Amino acid sequence: MMQIHPVPAFEDNYLWVIEDGRHAAVVDPGDEHPVQAFLEARGLELTAILATHHHGDHVGGLEWLAARWKCEVFGPAGERIDGLTRKLREGDRITVPGLGLPLEVLDVPGHTAGHIAYVGPDVVFCGDTLFACGCGRLFEGTPAQMVESLAKLARLPATTRVYCAHEYTMGNIRFALAVEPGNAKLAARRERDAAARAANRPTLPCTIADELDTNPFLRWSSPEVAASAAKHAGRALATPVEVFAAVREWKNGFR
Ligand code: ZN
Ligand code: FE
Repeated sequence: MMQIHPVPAFEDNYLWVIEDGRHAAVVDPGDEHPVQAFLEARGLELTAILATHHHGDHVGGLEWLAARWKCEVFGPAGERIDGLTRKLREGDRITVPGLGLPLEVLDVPGHTAGHIAYVGPDVVFCGDTLFACGCGRLFEGTPAQMVESLAKLARLPATTRVYCAHEYTMGNIRFALAVEPGNAKLAARRERDAAARAANRPTLPCTIADELDTNPFLRWSSPEVAASAAKHAGRALATPVEVFAAVREWKNGFR
């Protein structure tokens, strides 16, 4: 029986640990300390590390854990990350050592140039590309790249559970409501996720269905999102990429 646990780190990161009671894999170990403590508390052996992109809050603990556990370290072929033993790109399929979990790799550039996501049976680990009701900032990519990356994730089965790397949900929902105040599913989601946070529970994983219903960064074809983005930008927006870019810019300055 495989389980996936959030290990909180820093302000709002989740380092996801996948385990079967004996072996474990960690996704994006930005800090070795909470991961090592989690493994020790549960008596787990780390058999794999999976990195989605090169940012320090995702790989900071990678080398320490790799040295301690002598395990395989998977990561993006298109980024410089020290300590990788397997470099992956779109279409690659791996079986996570120790867990027998099959994962397929997607290239999802935009937040960083070589960012990858790992897709398994009804799960996706998407790092800082897709967030609950949001998406990553465009540090190394263009709006067109990010739209293509998000569209790939949006095409996964609606029941797919989405394991994002940050707890940004409530702030993202506040912004989403400014963009699309008439979305009743968004209002319902705010109630549900606010209750989770009040009980100190993660709002994650969410599902692709949740995101299709409520995430303004996937809803470039919603008339309300398009109209709202055009109004805020003060100009007509002709394409989904222009709508996305305007919503992303709006969010960058949203308080
Ligand atoms: Zn990042
Ligand atoms: Fe991050």
